[in-house]
Amino acid sequence: MTYDPSNIFAKILKGELPCHKVHEDDKALVMMDIFPQSRGHTLIVPKAASRNLLDADPEALSALMPLVQRVAKAVKAATNADGLRLVQFNEAPAGQTVFHLHFHIIPVYEGTPLGAHAGGKADDAELAALARDIAAHL
Ligand code: 5GP
Repeated sequence: MTYDPSNIFAKILKGELPCHKVHEDDKALVMMDIFPQSRGHTLIVPKAASRNLLDADPEALSALMPLVQRVAKAVKAATNADGLRLVQFNEAPAGQTVFHLHFHIIPVYEGTPLGAHAGGKADDAELAALARDIAAHL
């Protein structure tokens, strides 16, 4: 399987499509998932192009993980979640729907089941407020 540069996250990275941005640096873009499984569902999208974990450059991966941890802490602080899931899907049978590597930080609230993967679209104003709150905790 090869990388297809016309995927939606590549377009967001190039600024051709909008997103609720939390953070951007030379290595990655952090944004809100617009079909969140819970309040505060955040995506870390490395700028280095790869389809998923299987074809990712090991050096790019190791440079990214400290940011994944920072975002996890910021999401927890901003949302007061009781726990977090770190999720990453590889290929369609495993649940991957966007074929540019990304990591999900999914807050878990005790007693509240997670929504469906890539389910209903969230309110834009709520996503914008969450992006600001999480950014403030980074
Ligand atoms: P995957 O299944 O590939 O791991 O996850 C793709 C994620 O991207 C899903 O959670 C889905 O809700 C989210 N998503 C799909 N399209 C868009 C989009 O245009 N913008 C953002 N921010 N998230 C998206």
